[in-house]
Amino acid sequence: MPKQVDFLVVGSGIAGLTFATKAAKYGKVSVLTKKRKADSSTNYAQGGIAAVFGKEDAPEYHIADTIKAGEGLCHNDAVATMVREGPALVKELHSMGCRFSMNSNGNFDLGREGGHSKRRIVHAKDFTGQEIERVLLEETKKVGVIISENEIALDLLIQNGDCLGIYYLDADTRQIDVIYANATVLATGGVGQVYQHTTNPPIATGDGIAMAYRAGAMIANMEFVQFHPTAVYNIKIDGRSFLISEAVRGEGGVLKTKDGIAFMEKYAPAGNLAPRDVVARACLSEMIATNAKYVLLDVSHLQADFIKNRFPTIYETCLSWGIDITREPIPVVPAAHYLCGGIFVNEWAESSIPRLFALGECSCTGVHGANRLASNSLLEALVFASRASERVKKINDIHPTEKLHIRKSAKTGPNLMFQIKEIMDENVGLIRNEKTLLTAKATIDKFQACFEDGIHIINAESRNTSVIAQIIIESALERKESRGLHYMTDFPKKNSKYCSDTIKHIDVKHD
Ligand SMILES: Cc1cc2nc3c(=O)[nH]c(=O)nc-3n(C[C@H](O)[C@H](O)[C@H](O)COP(=O)(O)OP(=O)(O)OC[C@H]3O[C@@H](n4cnc5c(N)ncnc54)[C@H](O)[C@@H]3O)c2cc1C
Repeated sequence: MPKQVDFLVVGSGIAGLTFATKAAKYGKVSVLTKKRKADSSTNYAQGGIAAVFGKEDAPEYHIADTIKAGEGLCHNDAVATMVREGPALVKELHSMGCRFSMNSNGNFDLGREGGHSKRRIVHAKDFTGQEIERVLLEETKKVGVIISENEIALDLLIQNGDCLGIYYLDADTRQIDVIYANATVLATGGVGQVYQHTTNPPIATGDGIAMAYRAGAMIANMEFVQFHPTAVYNIKIDGRSFLISEAVRGEGGVLKTKDGIAFMEKYAPAGNLAPRDVVARACLSEMIATNAKYVLLDVSHLQADFIKNRFPTIYETCLSWGIDITREPIPVVPAAHYLCGGIFVNEWAESSIPRLFALGECSCTGVHGANRLASNSLLEALVFASRASERVKKINDIHPTEKLHIRKSAKTGPNLMFQIKEIMDENVGLIRNEKTLLTAKATIDKFQACFEDGIHIINAESRNTSVIAQIIIESALERKESRGLHYMTDFPKKNSKYCSDTIKHIDVKHD
């Protein structure tokens, strides 16, 4: 790993890799990733990437759908930027070799998902993310970007208010080192692992957001955690619940109680294709009403060949657990899936700390507002990563006043992951209230005290999830209303007083 690069990227999902491949034109890029290259949420994305290609579609419709889902908190300019710049970048992925599903006319086979008024989901069957990750990793090789695996970013290196790089741990040698960069780009993904039941892989521990928060960056809208309504009940693969993509409902899948009664029509006019928060809360209500641990998702009325061809991963994976989805319904539950908030950035992905950029799920560009529309996250990552790569091309060189100062306070921290997850699931889930939030806060505050100042080389993720839990709880406590993904039983209505972003940050004195 070089000691200084032009552009340092933390994370090798769609956001980090898109930036890296594009920024390589303008300087030397290094990507650091904490496990293997493809260990990312990107690799598991099934449904697809939303973009306007349909004959009956137009950017205005996609913009309107996104803003409607965002319940008054979307940054309209950012939404318009994403929608208008997205299609060209999706085409670019296709021309790089991404094998998107095509129809007989040679156009993208556009899928449909909840909250979208038109068919606009470009997909590669049900393994879209894996295909995008594959193509981007190939592209990084072509343009000479170095990706270092098993390197865990621990903290940002700040001098005179600027971000000059990071402290990181080499997980193989257990050495901590520093890397300097003219621009540091956090693309560390989501926070699902703060919860017990999540569709996110183990890497999703909110590291980038926690690092940025500790350094004094502005963090926004952390109360808006999206719970996907349909993760397979009681089965986990490698620490994550297996997702049944929304596209399954888009193609006709129906949610039913455990006794086989379809229920979505009574909750929303759009029925099974209502926005995710509505569907997830409906599932939870039905589970409570029928005293069941799950609801059912049924596609057995669709043609078996269509199911096998359109959803091969879902079909094969369920079959390996003894569920033949062409004949029987799938038991499903809501699970933590996506974070709408994150490191607050402008339309060029610049954070509130000079020289620090944030991209993808760890960022908050304002496009999702209080609720993300399905398949807009891959699109957001693609668009703002591309914009950031244009922004850094003129960034000037850093001149650190003091070089290679490695902090001595590295030590082992406690592993509190299990306890944090339990508290978050019980008190800060799909439905909250002040009492449950305050209960969670009291315990998380105590945990936070265990992680005193200093870098913990072991259990850095536990330290980070504790910070993330704290920010989610504090943000949720501030928003005394229900809006989008944030549902408080003691404040069940939307309140115009809260029609703005929730911003959290701490004043930090940097030495
Ligand atoms: C099961 C599933 C299905 C989904 N389906 C869709 C879909 O169909 N359409 C859609 O738009 N969105 C979907 N999403 C959401 C979407 O996949 C993610 O929001 C998006 O892939 C995030 O990309 P990213 O590059 O920001 O982060 P990720 O792809 O999660 O990548 C994060 C990277 O950061 C690295 N990292 C993290 N912390 C550190 C650290 N401390 N040091 C070094 N490296 C670190 C990780 O190892 C990883 O390489 C889905 C998500 C899941 C989990």
